[in-house]
Amino acid sequence: MLVSLTSTTPVATDLGFLLHKHPDRVRSVDLGFGRAHVFYPEAAAQRCTATTYVEVDPFGRTRRRDRHRAQGLEPYVNDRPYAASSMLSVALGRLFRTALTGRCDDRPELVARRLDIEIQLPAVPVRGGAEILGRLFDPLGYEVECSPIALDSQFPAWGDSQYVAARLAGRQTVRSALEHLYVLLPVLDDAKHYWIGPEEVNKLLLRGGDWLGCHPESELITRRYLRLPGFIREAQARLADAGEDTDLLGVQRDAAEEAAEAPIRLGEQRLEAVLQAVRDVGAGRVVDLGCGEGRLLERLLAEPAVTCAVGVDASVGALERAERRLKLDQMSERRRERIRLFQGALTYTDSRLQGFDVATIVEVVEHLDPERLDVFADVVFGHIGAASVVLTTPNREYNSNFERLDARGLRHEDHRFEWTRSEFEAWVRGIAARYGYSVEISAVGSSAPVCGPPSQMAVLRR
Ligand code: SAH
Repeated sequence: MLVSLTSTTPVATDLGFLLHKHPDRVRSVDLGFGRAHVFYPEAAAQRCTATTYVEVDPFGRTRRRDRHRAQGLEPYVNDRPYAASSMLSVALGRLFRTALTGRCDDRPELVARRLDIEIQLPAVPVRGGAEILGRLFDPLGYEVECSPIALDSQFPAWGDSQYVAARLAGRQTVRSALEHLYVLLPVLDDAKHYWIGPEEVNKLLLRGGDWLGCHPESELITRRYLRLPGFIREAQARLADAGEDTDLLGVQRDAAEEAAEAPIRLGEQRLEAVLQAVRDVGAGRVVDLGCGEGRLLERLLAEPAVTCAVGVDASVGALERAERRLKLDQMSERRRERIRLFQGALTYTDSRLQGFDVATIVEVVEHLDPERLDVFADVVFGHIGAASVVLTTPNREYNSNFERLDARGLRHEDHRFEWTRSEFEAWVRGIAARYGYSVEISAVGSSAPVCGPPSQMAVLRR
């Protein structure tokens, strides 16, 4: 998926200063669900274009709960890699974070300048009809042009798709153009690729606070952006209370900036917390039990103190994805000697799993049937018996902050249960006592009042 931002106000290459991205270079960031790149197809004094391109990792997406829910090929063949959506919005937030906060250290005088800006979106989903594009962007001072995209050019009788190619042109500061896209892309799509938590209200007010209050479609925007009645009411009340004075919106800038990255950050925070725990217990030989597609293994290999990293999973598909992620076939021999992947089940003893300093078990226990937990504990703590074990699992109490849960109120259809903080603690303490480990429990992710953090971690030492 793509979005291009063109300035035609000379000197147009000033766009590079405003975006904090040099026109001669390509910059890329990893987003968890794929990678985003920014580059300049043209950079001249009269006209300069910065294009953001997001590559969605199709395997990453199908691994998630979509796979269990959707039928047939939908998880593998869908519009997400092509259509402008909340993923593009997250990419813009990441790539242009400084521009979005209105900072330009090299040329501070440029920040408040309105430029003739043109935005090209080759494929935008417009749920609720193409006229919605005009309703959202006209009031913000854009001239909106949109051309329908045929569902299939070989079958004209099928008519148009729900996507359009859009061109938006207006005199805008670069910061406000980015804010408009950041907020309105998920609104046009009427969907988000991540769970909506309480921090979304602050994100919306942070990026939209300056223009949302007086936008005629403010209700539609808050409704589609926030989706949950409680959050919508809160945002609308804060906008109404603040009136013209956006300082009264009560957005704590730093906290909201951080939250703006929350969808990327929970997974990241968990990996970082686990890595830190592995470092704290002294690393050495590490086995990642239920390694999935190898995100942790990738990080472990980058740690000099990890002399050997082994990934085990029951799923061959996950192991194949891990192999691709780690690029095992291209790895130098020295590195290759430090890593091994194999298929195995955590409910059966397996001598290949013995002799490790640390075992990590990240978001795996909740995939086991509760009646298998005793066997699992016996295998992991009795048989494998690593000197230290680092284990994470969701905190069910936090689920009320998520928009989409399955019929049982759990986060993934493959989860057999999810524990509250006290249930987790009771289970871990029982294990520790039975197998002779000490235990420390900590929070992963930022805690919400009453319901605690999204995820929880136990570090056990023998
Ligand atoms: N630790 C990874 C993956 C978590 S998803 C991460 O944090 O990204 C849970 C993983 O546990 C899946 O890859 C699943 O195949 C694996 N798994 C579930 N039950 C298992 C079992 N009994 N034995 C081995 N692996 C199992």
